[in-house]
Amino acid sequence: MALKTREEYIESLRKLDLKVYMFGERVENPVDHPVIRPSLNSLAMTYELAQHDEYKDLMTATSNLTGEIVNRFCHLHQGTHDLVKKVKMQRLLGQKTAACFQRCVGMDAFNAVFSTTFEIDEKYGTDYHERFKRYMKFVQENDLTVDGAMTDPKGDRGLAPSKQADPDLFLRITEVREDGIVVRGAKAHQTGAVNSHEHLIMPTMAMREDDKDYAVCFSIPSDAEGILMIYGRQSCDARKLEEGADIDLGNSQFGGHEALVIFDDVFIPNERVYMCKEFDFSGMLVERFAGYHRQSYGGCKVGVGDVLIGATALAAEYNGVERASHIKDKLIEMTHLNETLYSSGIACSAEGYATKAGNFQIDLLLANVCKQNVTRFPYEIARLAEDIAGGVMVTMPAEKDFKDPVLGKYVEKYLVAKEGIATENRMRVLRLIENITLGTAAVGYRTESMHGAGSPQAQRVMIARQGNIQGKKELAKAIAKVDESKNRSTVKA
Ligand code: SF4
Ligand code: FE
Repeated sequence: MALKTREEYIESLRKLDLKVYMFGERVENPVDHPVIRPSLNSLAMTYELAQHDEYKDLMTATSNLTGEIVNRFCHLHQGTHDLVKKVKMQRLLGQKTAACFQRCVGMDAFNAVFSTTFEIDEKYGTDYHERFKRYMKFVQENDLTVDGAMTDPKGDRGLAPSKQADPDLFLRITEVREDGIVVRGAKAHQTGAVNSHEHLIMPTMAMREDDKDYAVCFSIPSDAEGILMIYGRQSCDARKLEEGADIDLGNSQFGGHEALVIFDDVFIPNERVYMCKEFDFSGMLVERFAGYHRQSYGGCKVGVGDVLIGATALAAEYNGVERASHIKDKLIEMTHLNETLYSSGIACSAEGYATKAGNFQIDLLLANVCKQNVTRFPYEIARLAEDIAGGVMVTMPAEKDFKDPVLGKYVEKYLVAKEGIATENRMRVLRLIENITLGTAAVGYRTESMHGAGSPQAQRVMIARQGNIQGKKELAKAIAKVDESKNRSTVKA
């Protein structure tokens, strides 16, 4: 069974014994919990669309490991064509869900761990790569969702992992046994953790020898002994618990989530360990994973942006101002910004290259430019959407007032806009804009655009490293006919 249906995916989650907590209580049934369910629906869309003929080219690929058709989210990229299709698939899913569909972190981790383990083995004679290939076959054959987990809590950001007052602030190996290792720590902001069958853990940054206990990579079922997850709150999330708040939710079907995942002395058998103290490779793994995930944002955020632009154009139309020149110009600006994000997502994919292991890596400079743009443009797109939507987006009465036998007629009468447009439709579109810019989806569209896949400064460090300023100086010297032998030394004798 290489491709699971949406229903099979949901049933497979029911079989897991996850330890999930929210609002101080254990969630006995995460699958049907009203706060969690919209995020599950988004992830389930990655299974559902893979069953549709019209999306098969984007949603599936032929595995290089088994020769079978697999979901692209479980695929190891075999060329730049795969990297380009990945971004297109993410834009499509952003359009269908207007939310984070969560499954990309696993895909990005698979590709980064695959190529890095090959190079660790080359240097140290270990067999991590073969182990990881066996794991990938298991993932592909069972069409699993895996939480690719990198970010540690980090404590004092000025101190290395081993210098923290509490040594657990970065996830670490506490014991090496003959048959495996024991780990303790946590991974923060874990996208889709509660909707995942497995976690694939990676170190959070480049490590030195002192920090070698923190240089660890492994996979583990998400219901393994010692793992617990604390669900992250989102703006306006309590609306999902209200009866009769379908309009108020803005997007009642879909959402995303993050969780704090805690590893309380978890045993990892050797077969599931892909890096154990090879600290000199943690930087490579981080750089590759971050590169893939920065590429990913050139797809998913663009798809959500498409929905936001559409909702904004509808809001203008319902207000009867769609022909105003400044409205047209603002929609052009939003489109320009959104397509610029897409351009860099496609560009870093088209310029990809083969790793030593054979799978394809994106162009790092262009992927970092892509994500740097993502830290800015969705904010401007959201600003323009709020400008056109008007203040009513955040001041209008609730659905319960709209449906109230006494108050309803006032809401209907005073929230009406252009003749012929149902007040309810106007409310729905405005609430969708609120959802993406300020509500539950804003986690994925705004703040995650800033910090997901690394905060802006992390990209600037990579842009500085990859920018080749020296090479550019040489170009300028050649054009300007600079003869450096004519330069006088400024060093005093
Ligand atoms: Fe995928 Fe985007 Fe969510 Fe990351 S933020 S998991 S790339 S949808
Ligand atoms: Fe993300």
